[in-house]
Amino acid sequence: MSGTNADVKKVAVIGGGTMGNGIAQTFATSGFEVELVDVTPAFVERALGAIAKSLERVAKKQEWPVDRVPAVLARIHGGTSLDLAKGCQLVVEAVNEDFGVKREIFQRLDAVAPPEAILASNTSSISITEIAAVTKRPGQVIGMHFMNPVPVMALVEIIRGLATTDATYGVVAEVTTRLGKTPVEVNDSPGFVSNRILMPMINEACFALMEGVATKEAIDTVMKLGMNHPLGPLTLADLIGLDVCLSIMEVLHQGLGDSKYRPCPLLRKLVKAGHLGRKSGHGFYEYPETPKKA
Ligand code: NAD
Repeated sequence: MSGTNADVKKVAVIGGGTMGNGIAQTFATSGFEVELVDVTPAFVERALGAIAKSLERVAKKQEWPVDRVPAVLARIHGGTSLDLAKGCQLVVEAVNEDFGVKREIFQRLDAVAPPEAILASNTSSISITEIAAVTKRPGQVIGMHFMNPVPVMALVEIIRGLATTDATYGVVAEVTTRLGKTPVEVNDSPGFVSNRILMPMINEACFALMEGVATKEAIDTVMKLGMNHPLGPLTLADLIGLDVCLSIMEVLHQGLGDSKYRPCPLLRKLVKAGHLGRKSGHGFYEYPETPKKA
């Protein structure tokens, strides 16, 4: 286990958005101390508020004793400085999917986190090898790809960059198990496994719609009832965000260089029109309940 600290007790989560707040909640629920970092105090407050609400729902559903929610919340400390990673054995980065932003954060983390700390990224599609290369500890950089919604989903795809050591992988797999989730080992490759397989299916559903093979409802129903998928691919795309689906298809197309990964023109058109799915109120379907400026 040389070079890494197997005894992870305190974790920094960088970015308190959709994924970051779910990741922080999950670590704190499993007994880890958490430092949650976002860019402004207001964003930190928003993340802590979202976690408190989510925990209340879990507590009600799972009939937790009354003192458990405050105890979990007390393990999460918020702040705006990456210096909070100083006392942490593991850092999980979950900021926007932008290599420039992640590069700057990993360079800073490399300077402030203890030398034995592991630096993980929750990226959906950016190369872990490339992120690791901006640090002086590429052996201790790894992908921890949680699924949305984090507190509910059982999988963490663990991505090994070119230099990730066995010791780093071992610590992260063990921590994942302590979170009550199943780690699955994957090598660094565009889209990893989850998005390499999921996104071309969504893209193909989009082609089928564009070519008039069937209506959107028919495409979704075939996949739900015929393949036992909980959601049809077009409904799922709206949930993920059409911009996110398009950017992952671009990564697959560029990274693998095969025309079978070309993004569907209808997907591009919808994104250009600002029809991003559930979050913008329009996608393949309409979401009148979404606030206009969401
Ligand atoms: P999001 O936009 O909801 O949240 C990103 C957060 O990062 C925001 O709160 C933002 O203020 C914060 N941030 C930006 N720059 C920062 C900085 N310099 N320091 C600290 N915080 C900063 O995004 P998200 O959906 O939570 O995605 C985060 C990451 O997780 C991305 O890499 C994404 O690809 C990945 N991911 C997303 C999903 C999903 O379904 N949304 C699923 C798996 C993985």
